[in-house]
Amino acid sequence: MSAEDAASQDDLPKDDLAKDDLAKDDLAKDDLPKDDLMERIVNVSKRRGFIFPSAEIYGGFRSTYDYGPLGVLMLRNVKDAWWRSMVQLRDDVVGIDAAILSSPRIWEASGHLANFTDPMVDCRSCHERWRADKIGDACPNCGSHDLTEPRAFNLMFKTYAGPVEDEGTVAYLRPETAQGMFVNFLNVLQTTRKKPPFGIAQVGKSFRNEITPQNFVFRTREFEQMEMEYFVPPGEADQWFTYWTEARMQWYLDLGMPADKLRLRHHGPDELSHYSTATADVEFAFPWGWDELEGIANRGDYDLQAHSAHSGQRLEYFDQSTGERYVPYVIEPAAGATRTMVAFLLAAYDEDEVGGEKRTVLRLDPRLAPYQVAVLPLSKNDRLVPLSRQVLERVQPVCMCDFDVTQSIGRRYRRQDEVGTPLCVTVDFDSLEDKAVTIRDRDSTEQSRVPIEDLAGHIQDRLALPGC
Ligand code: ATP
Repeated sequence: MSAEDAASQDDLPKDDLAKDDLAKDDLAKDDLPKDDLMERIVNVSKRRGFIFPSAEIYGGFRSTYDYGPLGVLMLRNVKDAWWRSMVQLRDDVVGIDAAILSSPRIWEASGHLANFTDPMVDCRSCHERWRADKIGDACPNCGSHDLTEPRAFNLMFKTYAGPVEDEGTVAYLRPETAQGMFVNFLNVLQTTRKKPPFGIAQVGKSFRNEITPQNFVFRTREFEQMEMEYFVPPGEADQWFTYWTEARMQWYLDLGMPADKLRLRHHGPDELSHYSTATADVEFAFPWGWDELEGIANRGDYDLQAHSAHSGQRLEYFDQSTGERYVPYVIEPAAGATRTMVAFLLAAYDEDEVGGEKRTVLRLDPRLAPYQVAVLPLSKNDRLVPLSRQVLERVQPVCMCDFDVTQSIGRRYRRQDEVGTPLCVTVDFDSLEDKAVTIRDRDSTEQSRVPIEDLAGHIQDRLALPGC
């Protein structure tokens, strides 16, 4: 984000704003990528309940989206996988959950009020508005070269806390989760007795009044982030920057992201934010090209210094063993949860043939799939259904299960393949006698027989599901 002359949303004429919003809504619909794969993901998301356009019965609302029954499970799995790796499996990182509604003083100190802007241009011909750094010198809508000079558009959502709307009650919806970690630095230090190097992690919603939200949930005005601020002695910053770029790349690979769809791109000196001495982006090969999933930055002591200066509190670390007092440097891995979810969907989408029939399959890692198991009685027979329910109750404590009784078994397998369920458990007439069930594997479609008694443990081992 950069711009010279900061203009805020308030500076725009009201008529322009109305026109802008309408234009953007139309744009969002028309702008869905024409690319086949993306269209398929958007289609499967809507049809199977991953992601719906928000307020759809009213014609949608400004490129906002709702996560449906399957989407909410998958998004939670993405965030849980991040939390597990960043917090649970470490003893040097703790979590917080800071307020979304936040004081203007935070954003004044962080520089967001002045600088969190994108350069915006208007097309004088069709009156569309665009983010200048994302288009060439022609309007993507009508091709005209008659564009206004770029002006800075502040991306923060402004509101009022309390019944009185005046300067004293102004509040902002946070545009990133990171500042919550900086303003709580002392609280966390004092309550956890951590010492650098240590980190504070947070997962939650952020809001940016993007000029052109686009590409489904890749860029939206409301989204979720997964961020961690890692506080280190200044002399160790470079080595920790390298450590976190490698660790973060590995996280995506461990969750099944193909290596040829992932790359780490180091920013050149002209691309760096003014506070950063090094930044690298984890990029994914989206259908429209390489684009960012996560940024890892060495932020130096910029944030703690800025909040110290504005709050009058000394945000520093005192090392009792050496008597040394210093302001830690910060390495920040900042990822988008919603953006990452759509990248995993894109990477997992596959079509193949089984028994001469075409099928769509999401090859999601079991830890990310909405359901790990589907329990399917072979038919609606009134002896099979009660036994199937008993089987379901055995597996539910171990993982998320679907239970589906209607349609032919083949159709039900296809439905589960399409949403990425790694294992189907079929209860058939033999099950009544041998107290065993058939497990069918999503990827190989191979089937094997497992005693009901051993089922829960078998599934846990086979899918390598995390324990507590
Ligand atoms: P961009 O340049 O694409 O606007 P950014 O570099 O400003 O993004 P950061 O501030 O580094 O993004 O945010 C960290 C992460 O949060 C991004 O890598 C992305 O995954 C996610 N993110 C940022 N903005 C959005 C958005 N509007 N919609 C969805 N995810 C977002």
